[in-house]
Amino acid sequence: MLRLAGPPVAEAVYAELRALLAQMPYVPHLRVVRLGDDPASVAYVRLKDRQARRLGLSSQVDVFPAGTPQEALLAHIARLNADPGVDGILVQSPLPPQVDFNAVLQAIDPQKDVDGLTPLNTGRLWMGLEALESCTPAGVVRLLKHYRIPLAGREVVIVGRSNLVGKPLAALMLRENATVTLAHSRTHNLPEVCRRADVLVVAVGRPGLITPEMVRPGAVVVDVGINRVGQSPEGRDILVGDVAPEVAQVASALTPVPGGVGPMTVAMLLYNTVKAARWRRGV
Ligand code: NAD
Repeated sequence: MLRLAGPPVAEAVYAELRALLAQMPYVPHLRVVRLGDDPASVAYVRLKDRQARRLGLSSQVDVFPAGTPQEALLAHIARLNADPGVDGILVQSPLPPQVDFNAVLQAIDPQKDVDGLTPLNTGRLWMGLEALESCTPAGVVRLLKHYRIPLAGREVVIVGRSNLVGKPLAALMLRENATVTLAHSRTHNLPEVCRRADVLVVAVGRPGLITPEMVRPGAVVVDVGINRVGQSPEGRDILVGDVAPEVAQVASALTPVPGGVGPMTVAMLLYNTVKAARWRRGV
């Protein structure tokens, strides 16, 4: 079984970006906004900021209290939109209940939408136009291409239909000429639908959802899920995906969790930051 490791592919993206950055007459600036202290959000934001700096980008994290009203957050986004020195804006989700994530996405300047989630970029993606693409789906496609997994004409089944992962991944897989099925919590007979897949991508958030009986022997399986199932004696989170470990015995290739899709998400965020800067500044 081929292990579809993310870090070497992320490194290839960073090498491309370093070459581009060396020719750019300015340093792109990423601004990440976080509300509250959700431990997973704190960890993700730290990772994104650290990796941005490691690549040589300028990065700043703006932290607001969990109780911040939506209007105050929208006013902050308006300031970042208007600031010519800001190339990329990312608001980390999930957000506290008083803030509507869709309202936030609609407020972000699509030219600075490095998460690729605003209505304009989502629409452009579905129309097959150049867009800032949602980072995790773009990372999945980049990972599969790196390992030379063919997609054209093949059955791709995606489990999970979120705006963040499942839906934009369906658009990207269509662009790769795959035959796409988007399954979800109301899908009848999920095991049978999953067994159709040449490439099965799972983005649900339920450990062990995908068992070996749901996977056609020889299929490629991409596990997007990240689930915290406890802590190690050293206090580190123990992370597992949505795919049961025994699936390794039937799949021809599988992404590990951690160390599969996660590093690709961060790499594609920084890819989008450089792309957004070059577009907006014209150099
Ligand atoms: P979400 O909660 O927004 O969406 C989950 C989807 O799963 C929904 O569309 C729902 O219909 C579907 N679903 C729920 N129960 C199901 C079931 N029993 N059978 C089939 N489908 C079911 O979640 P999300 O934001 O898309 O994230 C999904 C998972 O991916 C989470 O574990 C999240 O942590 C992880 N994630 C990982 C990365 C990464 O970089 N690796 C990035 C984003 C999200």
